Amino acid sequence: MNDFHDIQNLFTRYQTFAISTHVNPDGDAIGSEIALFLYLRKLGKTVRIFNTDTVPKKYQFLPYWNNIETAQASTDYHPEVLVIVDASSHERIGKYLSKNLIPIHAVVNIDHHISAKAFGDYNIIEPTVSSTAEIIYKFIKSTDTPIDPDGALCLYTGLMFDTGCFQYSNATPETHRIAADLMDIGDFSPDEVYRKVYEHIPLGKIHLLGRTLRTLELTSDGKIAWVLITQDMLNDTDTTLDDVEGFVNQIQAIETVEVAICVCELKDGNTKVSLRSEGRVDVAALAAEFNGGGHERASGCRINLPYTSAIKMLVDSAKQHIQ
Ligand code: 5GP
Ligand code: MN
Repeated sequence: MNDFHDIQNLFTRYQTFAISTHVNPDGDAIGSEIALFLYLRKLGKTVRIFNTDTVPKKYQFLPYWNNIETAQASTDYHPEVLVIVDASSHERIGKYLSKNLIPIHAVVNIDHHISAKAFGDYNIIEPTVSSTAEIIYKFIKSTDTPIDPDGALCLYTGLMFDTGCFQYSNATPETHRIAADLMDIGDFSPDEVYRKVYEHIPLGKIHLLGRTLRTLELTSDGKIAWVLITQDMLNDTDTTLDDVEGFVNQIQAIETVEVAICVCELKDGNTKVSLRSEGRVDVAALAAEFNGGGHERASGCRINLPYTSAIKMLVDSAKQHIQ
């Protein structure tokens, strides 16, 4: 494992950089990328961001979101250093990027997932820290370069998203102190950020939630609950997999539920899974059984099987974890 000093030396030594993050990027992934982009630009570096997936609409209020380029745009760019944020494995940045975006000198991996692999030449992995944004904040604070208001908004959004608006157990006193500092630096209002991220829901998403709740099933003891989203449901409501975000948390909030499972049928017939735990079961371990990962209370995986088989395997496995 490396320390901030190693990373700072590396950033000082080289001139050209690329940044990337995991597929289906969330507020932490995008906020962290842009904050790092702004930091490196301030140092006078050449820096570009390449993502497999486009920036979801709700994050298009973030400054510089438009600077995030598609994976294919990276073809002719050969940076000295590639920084990957918030992705627990190299493959999580997507097939094209993991094959084609190869830096000349080093890969830097900055992450906070418990399942994080030390895949970089340089690795900062802090599984006890709320978000990658919190790590980036601490890193920039350890240097002489100040965080500017744009960077503060991006980092605050990352912190807010990964702590479930400061509700989850990963929101430590330190996280709150950092949030307060970012509010001092920035010229945003937290309620506005909240509204941008959570209260610009397309009507189709509400229809999809209605349909999804009708698929709810529970084990007889009420401890395991699952819902299903099929391609037909997405097509009927004019929504995409991005719109499914948050559904699993609603299921997890049912009073008896210890493990919540949200199962999505993918276009290729395989299955994408989100898992949440009320605290007793380690769902990162559960996801790892299916080659996935994440955190103890929030994890995910992809199962190369149709959803009927996937649900059966997941529920059986969850039962083992509860015993
Ligand atoms: P979500 O359910 O919100 O998509 O993801 C919850 C957590 O699990 C996130 O921290 C995310 O990075 C992780 N996660 C989701 N899907 C996968 C996956 O397919 N592989 C791995 N390694 N982690 C995942
Ligand atoms: Mn994160």
